[in-house]
Amino acid sequence: MNQNTAQRLQQIQARIEAACRHCQRDPDQIRLLAVSKGQPLAALATMAALGQQAFGENYVDEALDKISALRSHTLEWHYIGPVQSNKTRAIAEHFDWVQSVDRIKIVRRLADQRPADRPPLNLLIQVNLDGEQQKAGCQPDQIADLAEAISANRPLRLRGLMAIPAPRDNRQDQRAAFERLHSLFARLQDDHASVDTLSAGMSADLEAAIMAGSTMVRIGTDLFGPRPSAASQAPPRHAGA
Ligand SMILES: *Cc1c(COP(=O)(O)O)cnc(C)c1O
Repeated sequence: MNQNTAQRLQQIQARIEAACRHCQRDPDQIRLLAVSKGQPLAALATMAALGQQAFGENYVDEALDKISALRSHTLEWHYIGPVQSNKTRAIAEHFDWVQSVDRIKIVRRLADQRPADRPPLNLLIQVNLDGEQQKAGCQPDQIADLAEAISANRPLRLRGLMAIPAPRDNRQDQRAAFERLHSLFARLQDDHASVDTLSAGMSADLEAAIMAGSTMVRIGTDLFGPRPSAASQAPPRHAGA
């Protein structure tokens, strides 16, 4: 299994590098988020031993067990699932990033609940790029107000945007969607000096995302293999799977 994991990691890194060559970007500008929801602890430990640092989780209770068990590694934990009000305290206490912030109420709770002895909680605003009813994320015209609210709170640090565009089957259409996202990102960067992260691109569209300026791709299945646990077979409400 270790070898398979190493091979999958190498394949993803090779895809990132090829996409960067294609558009003359430096691969060091792209971070890989290993989406480890539904994956067993041993798979995360293997990935961490291979040097992977950033892990993404969608289910708070499952994540807390993993964060605690892997405490001896220096890992960075990203919450990427829909944020429920009753889970904000656990998220604020145990995660380093939240990529799925889409309303002011959640911003306030995370700010109030981030422990004073921890560094600021890094936040990405999730944007619902295609106006899909069933998906999480704010509308593009709500980004500015959310960004102001985040920036006004010292325990929080506004880092950028995250989106999961509707699936498109060719690279040109994928890229056009990501370019719309990038222009929202560029506007946010003009207004907020702390903004440096555009989380966009998954297994099916990471090339298009990188060509349009993504700085972080989120890969689950292509990195770890299919999710084994029955509890996590059901895709999260917003994943569009
Ligand atoms: C699950 C998930 C991913 C990764 O999905 P895979 O199909 O496992 O690669 C990426 N981003 C978000 C927000 C997710 O919920």
